[in-house]
Amino acid sequence: MTASETDHLPEDARPGHDSTRYALLNDLLQAGWLRFRFPRSLEQEFRHYHATASARTFRSTVFYVLLLYLVLGIGIMIIIPSETLGSWPLGYSAVTLLILAAVALSRSHRLDAWHQQYVTALAFPGMVVLTVLPEFTGAPVMKQAATIGTVHAAVVIGSVLGLRAGPAALAMWGGGYLGVVAILVSGQSLSWLLTHQTLTAGCAVGTVVAWLMERQSRQVFLQQSLLSLEKARSDDMAERMKEMSREDGLTGLTNRRHFDEVLNLEWQRCMRDGASLSLMFIDVDFFKPYNDEYGHQAGDDCLQRLGRILADHARRPGDLAARYGGEEFVVLYPQTGPRSLEQMADKLLRAVADERMPHGHSSVADHITVSIGTACIVPEQSYNPEQLVAAADHAVYEAKNKGRNRVYNAPVKTTDPCP
Ligand code: GH3
Ligand code: MG
Ligand code: MG
Repeated sequence: MTASETDHLPEDARPGHDSTRYALLNDLLQAGWLRFRFPRSLEQEFRHYHATASARTFRSTVFYVLLLYLVLGIGIMIIIPSETLGSWPLGYSAVTLLILAAVALSRSHRLDAWHQQYVTALAFPGMVVLTVLPEFTGAPVMKQAATIGTVHAAVVIGSVLGLRAGPAALAMWGGGYLGVVAILVSGQSLSWLLTHQTLTAGCAVGTVVAWLMERQSRQVFLQQSLLSLEKARSDDMAERMKEMSREDGLTGLTNRRHFDEVLNLEWQRCMRDGASLSLMFIDVDFFKPYNDEYGHQAGDDCLQRLGRILADHARRPGDLAARYGGEEFVVLYPQTGPRSLEQMADKLLRAVADERMPHGHSSVADHITVSIGTACIVPEQSYNPEQLVAAADHAVYEAKNKGRNRVYNAPVKTTDPCP
């Protein structure tokens, strides 16, 4: 196929796409730990994979985040006298609501693709609140506790929420420093040293953790993509080998081995249904002299053309044309009675003659002809499939004996076993 012929195909179905992708995945895996973005289409695939995988993990871990947050909060409320809490309960409740919103959103599988977006959108204001909170608490001990809470938040955002490094950094740094701006704008005092030691350090640790986790996720994604590509390849190859093991190499028709398998299956099926099973046996007339005169290659070409004609005469579902061996073919017609079989055999005989393949050494025509034997049976326990084949084979010899280039229909067997 030329490039223009493949343009209409989806990218994945184009020849060569498979190996290009394979090479790309391999290169990226080898590229090592600094690789932070994939080429555009692969990056999209990764983001989808990452979003659904992290949403799944998030669904089970967000409860623990909530539990931890509640335990820490309740601990503070027990330890610290209520008059020193200041506005802390307000900020604490606001963050609890944000976590509850995350729990609720994570319940919906339809939102999995939006996991990064909704978690970032909730973590960002959470970070703002937790940064601002220490400035609105009462006693210094409470201020200290609330400041440490900011560090915890940054580490949690970077590690357990399943955010990629970019969105995690946006929530941590963006939310945290927006909180700092809010403190400054509201005229509150701000210890830059403390901010540096808590917020900046917490965000830095959180970002590194998020980045390491994203890198791991990218690696797993590449390995899984490679594995599924290799599996698809080996499935294709196995399928092709299976087809080849059923196919006759010269004509592309079914080979004898597979024909025998199908014959047995159709035999059983027709026996169950009480239906007729018909078989045609076809033998090329004077094929040895044809080969001798025109050469083996011409003989092969002739067999291929006959194969195409036969395939054209086995078109209904269940019909099966096969090369039985040498210049002998069979066509199986399940659910077909003797009258239809005779008509089909006559049609096939004419079709071969109409092909007008010159044959100067035939005693019956100046072109290739065939002799056809037919046999039809309603399968019963007392018969076996080999008897049907033997009856059709025997009929071919009758056709040969009667002068070739003709059809001989074996008597229909319904009650007496075939000879
Ligand atoms: P009859 O009319 O009695 O059938 O005579 P025939 O010559 O067709 O029968 P015979 O069995 O004597 O010869 C069959 C010939 O088919 C012999 C062989 O050279 C040829 N043949 C069998 N398989 C192939 C094949 O795969 N390719 C070619 N080119 N010839 C083949
Ligand atoms: Mg023969
Ligand atoms: Mg022959």
